[in-house]
Amino acid sequence: MRRDIFTAEQADFRLLIRDFVAREIVPCYQDWERAGEVPREFFRKLGDIGVMGMAIPEEHGGSGNADYRYNVILQEEASRALVTMGTVRTQLDVILPYFLAYANEEQRERWFPGLAAGTLLTAIAMTEPGTGSDLAAVQTNARREGDSYVLNGSKMFISNGQIADTIIVVAKTDPKARPAHRGVSLILVDKDAPGFVRGRKLDKLGFKGQDTSELFFEDCRVPVTNLLGQEGQGFKMLMEKLQQERLTTAVGSLASARRCLDDTVAYTKQRKAFGQPIAAFQNTQFKLAEMATEVEVGQAFVDRCLAAHVRGDEIVSEVSMAKWWVTDLLKKVTSQCLQLHGGYGFMMEFPVATDYADAAIQSIYAGTNEIMKVIIARRMGLESRE
Ligand SMILES: Cc1cc2nc3c(=O)[nH]c(=O)nc-3n(C[C@H](O)[C@H](O)[C@H](O)COP(=O)(O)OP(=O)(O)OC[C@H]3O[C@@H](n4cnc5c(N)ncnc54)[C@H](O)[C@@H]3O)c2cc1C
Repeated sequence: MRRDIFTAEQADFRLLIRDFVAREIVPCYQDWERAGEVPREFFRKLGDIGVMGMAIPEEHGGSGNADYRYNVILQEEASRALVTMGTVRTQLDVILPYFLAYANEEQRERWFPGLAAGTLLTAIAMTEPGTGSDLAAVQTNARREGDSYVLNGSKMFISNGQIADTIIVVAKTDPKARPAHRGVSLILVDKDAPGFVRGRKLDKLGFKGQDTSELFFEDCRVPVTNLLGQEGQGFKMLMEKLQQERLTTAVGSLASARRCLDDTVAYTKQRKAFGQPIAAFQNTQFKLAEMATEVEVGQAFVDRCLAAHVRGDEIVSEVSMAKWWVTDLLKKVTSQCLQLHGGYGFMMEFPVATDYADAAIQSIYAGTNEIMKVIIARRMGLESRE
């Protein structure tokens, strides 16, 4: 079905990005996977064509007028080409909104030009070895000493951890605050800060082309001017900005499901068994027809969420619904498509094997699907008795 949420200018942008992905990512993507990270040079190239700064104000080196639909196009075109722009997504969709909403004028001058040029790479460190879903329980703390914060703690599973120049760290500035979330703040740690140590680049099931790392803070000293927003407001800021991260996860998952399905339709038309194409069996047709239906149903809902998000509506429940439903759909689609490939589906040279592996994380990060249902239920007035 024709999608009516994009402008003509955005349709042109899609063609530009499709060409860019084919030229700049596809030929070297296996190198990224082997290295387990995206080369810095790639971000600079995206900066050169204006993508890294498309939401950053002109006075700070960006073009300043792009709404979230441009990010959606990036996601969709990467999924279409079976590559992840994972860390670009982290920077543009997840992290930049914090800078745009909460950086003060001095911080804007310090960080925005590098963000727009693609020379300043970022990460956001919420998860810790001991806590992920329960964000208010983070143990990393930031003690005020004169004009500095002194951070101690460790973070786990951090996207971009190896290549980030500056990291938004979720830390407790008031560990005794009750309720606990009132003690949470967001503090920027630069890579050269004394006491900041990068840990292992973790070995993963999927998403091999981007790094996921451990980080350590050992009496790590940063100036108080690195506080983002207000002390004690970190949890509220996270809750506000996680809406877009979750929507992004749904957008990318749906685009991957659609492409995996298209690949499988093509495969089943050419693979033969018992003297006929696999696609001629009724089981194959019904499975493909069911999946095509669910992808279209998902697209209708996701596009509705996108339009509402761009308008600035508060759609926390709907985005949580989209995130869990679409990422579960992706797992179902990749699993069924792999089955329709037979033994070839288990071979890494067939895209469906990568799709299957990459699908596993989508229901876990950006808030697990169980947490999405907790949010929806709470907003339906259903209180937990646990
Ligand atoms: C590839 C990758 C990239 C990531 N990137 C980042 C990043 O850049 N920054 C960052 O901060 N984090 C990142 N993460 C971490 C990710 O956000 C967490 O893994 C996720 O939030 C889940 O936390 P956890 O792993 O501690 O699981 P846990 O919280 O231990 O959950 C384990 C299980 O218990 C369930 N559970 C927990 N609480 C409830 C409840 N109340 N009701 C029902 N079930 C519940 C969960 O749904 C899950 O199934 C990344 C993870 C991966 C794998």
